[in-house]
Amino acid sequence: MKTEKPILQDLHGRDHAYLRISLIERCNLRCTYCMPEEGVKLSPKNHLMTYKEIYTIAKTFVDNGVTKIRLTGGEPLIRKDIPTILEKLSTLPVELSITSNAVIIDKFIDVLKANHVNKINVSLDSLDAAKFKHITRRHEFKKVYNNILLLVKEGFTVKVNAVLMKGFNDNEIIDFINFTKDLPISVRFIEFMPFDGNKWDMSKMVSYAEVMEYVNASFLKENIERLQDAPNDTSKNYKIEGYKGSFAIISSVTNPFCDSCNRLRLTANGQLKNCLFSSTESDLLTTLRKGKSIEPVIQKAVQAKFKVRGGMDTLKKLQEPKLHNNNRSMITIGG
Ligand code: SAM
Ligand code: SF4
Repeated sequence: MKTEKPILQDLHGRDHAYLRISLIERCNLRCTYCMPEEGVKLSPKNHLMTYKEIYTIAKTFVDNGVTKIRLTGGEPLIRKDIPTILEKLSTLPVELSITSNAVIIDKFIDVLKANHVNKINVSLDSLDAAKFKHITRRHEFKKVYNNILLLVKEGFTVKVNAVLMKGFNDNEIIDFINFTKDLPISVRFIEFMPFDGNKWDMSKMVSYAEVMEYVNASFLKENIERLQDAPNDTSKNYKIEGYKGSFAIISSVTNPFCDSCNRLRLTANGQLKNCLFSSTESDLLTTLRKGKSIEPVIQKAVQAKFKVRGGMDTLKKLQEPKLHNNNRSMITIGG
């Protein structure tokens, strides 16, 4: 039941109806842009939310207006109690979805269906097995590729996320778009973003404008259709005439979508992040474990949300390592 006080509204008038919950800090891949080569310092197990705590915290958000929950990680499917988590969360009146690298998703088709998880985002940064190995430091291309086909066959709504890196996979933009010719998927090109330890620099990033240069050079103008973006959508959506699927660009760096942001993030160790780029966190788990209400902590965190990108409102600020190095690595935020 929604309460009267809009604790999920920030001081810029944005209501937050979308919660992304990271279930785990570990992963079965090692994507270079997501986790540092030396790995990340993992939280002790007893600092991670149990499935009961995840449910209790999620329910508090739902009671206050959250209508969408996306599970992420690390790799959410390697958490042992994922079936229980899905079962518990599916009792809440929310749209439940998941972001996965899909390496083992074939083992979860029935569990996902039973718990009404219909929307799956899958990360795949290259259609070339050798390049996939280079970026993920693991040989799992075939499994991921086949599992994307399986998900489509099983009737899931699939979005494929590809982080573009200059000189690495920007020459695959058109191959990815052609991947949508016979498959009803959406391929989303993500601008490479800076997080702790991922050696980001602006010159490695492929921008929205550059993606469109490739597209305009390869397809006739009249065949490139700009689609209507959904409210609060983070992506600019397009389709090639006659193709079953579509493609999109997520331009958090060159064209942030902060004005319509409705997202909050909960890390696997129970910290609320009011923005992907935020360098501060609010400890919901400790508050919950002390038996206190987490609502005042949530409200304070939401009200502290910056208008743009955790306060990095210019590209110049985004390029200052000291600003984004105070943030976590993406693997422990949850994308
Ligand atoms: N393991 C799952 C996966 O890979 O889909 C879920 C977690 S992953 C952190 C969530 C998303 O964050 C992925 O789509 C990944 O590509 C994206 N991501 C990670 N690091 C990124 C970065 N530096 N810039 C842009 N997107 C990034
Ligand atoms: Fe793992 Fe996803 Fe990060 Fe890759 S992007 S290391 S699959 S959490």
